[in-house]
Amino acid sequence: MEEVKATEEKKLNFLEEIIENDLAEGKFKTILTRFPPEPNGYLHLGHAKSICLNFGLAQKYGGATNLRFDDTNPVKEDTEYVDSIKQDIQWLGFNWAEEHYASDYFDQLYEWAEKMINEGLAYVDDQTQEEIRIGRGTVQTPGTNSPYRDRTPEENLRIFREMRDGKYPDGAKVLRAKIDMAHPNMMFRDPIMYRIIHASHHRTGDKWCIYPMYDYTHGQSDSIENITHSICTLEFDVHRPLYDWFIKTLDIFPSHQYEFARLNLTYTVMSKRKLLELVQKGLVSGWDDPRMPTICGIRRRGYTPRALKIFCDKIGVAKREQLIDLQLLEWCVRQDLNERSNRYMVVSDDPIKLTITNWEAGKTEWFEAPLNPAEPDGAKRRVPFTGSLWIDRADFMEDAPAKFFRLKPGGEVRLKYTYIAKCEEVIKDENGKVVELKCTIDPSTHPASGQWRSVKGTIHWVSADYAKELELRVYDKLFTEPQMGNIPEDKDYKDYLNPESLVVTKGLAEPALLEDNSGIAVQFERVGYFFTDPDSTPDHPVFNKTTALKDSFKF
Ligand code: ATP
Ligand code: MG
Repeated sequence: MEEVKATEEKKLNFLEEIIENDLAEGKFKTILTRFPPEPNGYLHLGHAKSICLNFGLAQKYGGATNLRFDDTNPVKEDTEYVDSIKQDIQWLGFNWAEEHYASDYFDQLYEWAEKMINEGLAYVDDQTQEEIRIGRGTVQTPGTNSPYRDRTPEENLRIFREMRDGKYPDGAKVLRAKIDMAHPNMMFRDPIMYRIIHASHHRTGDKWCIYPMYDYTHGQSDSIENITHSICTLEFDVHRPLYDWFIKTLDIFPSHQYEFARLNLTYTVMSKRKLLELVQKGLVSGWDDPRMPTICGIRRRGYTPRALKIFCDKIGVAKREQLIDLQLLEWCVRQDLNERSNRYMVVSDDPIKLTITNWEAGKTEWFEAPLNPAEPDGAKRRVPFTGSLWIDRADFMEDAPAKFFRLKPGGEVRLKYTYIAKCEEVIKDENGKVVELKCTIDPSTHPASGQWRSVKGTIHWVSADYAKELELRVYDKLFTEPQMGNIPEDKDYKDYLNPESLVVTKGLAEPALLEDNSGIAVQFERVGYFFTDPDSTPDHPVFNKTTALKDSFKF
């Protein structure tokens, strides 16, 4: 896999080229795409890419997109997943034209199977799974015909109906297409169309105990809906000839399949099976753990739909496997939040007390500060200033180098939005740890005084009399290895879990933070972006760190 960085150039991607050609040639009047999730887990960032692509193309060319649940395996599927998938797509800001379920086509698919049997194009095979596998041969050697391959259509039809009526246990028989056991494409060596599964389906209940396979379902479902461009990930390219074969054999609407590269991200696993395992083993707090690459996880973390769209746009559509730098995703969310998020001052855990010695005891002065510095005349918040403040320990240094422009003994600093303060005295505890700084402010440096005096450093602060304590959940990568798709064979992806992916700490916030109702992540000035967690209560506010303020990442 190659490391890929986004490019800025905006030429048509290969799918746009195909669509523009098809429209120009009058092949279709309008395009119809579909997003076909299997409801066996929550959507992840890879799905977000597929969603942005399918819905985005339809929007661009005035077409539409269907949502189709690919629900042909009753054992793994559930309505919980159906609901979450719909919620996630809507959160991303997309509306589907029609909502369908592959299971809605079970009757039609069954009818077509009988038709194929009658035409001698399908047969019931009694071989075991293992016998079928061996009979398929290998890429180098042709397969061998099943001893059941030459059953008459009448016999096949009778047994297939018995399968449908529940006469046989799971695995006893399958229905196979009768194509060619020596075909160079292994997919054509009599692919299985139906298997017996005695399990309740989340929609059809116990109506069926035979279920169609992916290859016998997907193309026909596309065709039933008149999907013009059926877009899927690269690993399905080997299925395409079979997709076309069923459509041609049944002589139905000619949907076409096109493949693009899956999204892979550094430090991330994206398969639903693995994500489910993390949830089931309690290695994360749930599908929406903010460390998860699921849409609900990153939503809880504070990512925005806009950030994801910027991201999908930047990574583009490729035909080769790509590994995208996780930092690009972070860059995108920063890009969005930097423009839109409200600012507040929050001091980290283990702060230093700053006492203003020339401040009238008990006095509060309220300052107005912009919610967003990009809009100095926009909405404001009110920030209380008193004689007792908290500042970040990192903003003070006793033996500071010359280039240190924050607070130092005898030095001056602007307390953001307010006065310039001078450090007059450093108080330490018995262990020599700095616990308090006695400062004076220069009243003439009030921002409204009209005479601006500048100092090199500005630091954030919070009034100790008004500070609100916060629980802060600070996240790091869930895995320690950049190429999680490339780990040694004798290792398990869980061996690479980062033990420091979650650190819980505290913060002290200016009071206006708790009245923020912007609905998106906020910026803790000079610190990073944070988003209220649903665990928050008025007495115990909890914030998730979305991302740091900046990074060295450039592209
Ligand atoms: P997983 O392997 O994670 O379970 P899946 O492909 O089985 O994913 P589906 O629910 O079948 O998941 O996928 C729905 C759609 O999303 C498919 O069209 C699939 O190609 C696409 N998709 C899934 N994963 C990615 C990915 N990493 N990048 C881009 N598209 C993806
Ligand atoms: Mg799948």
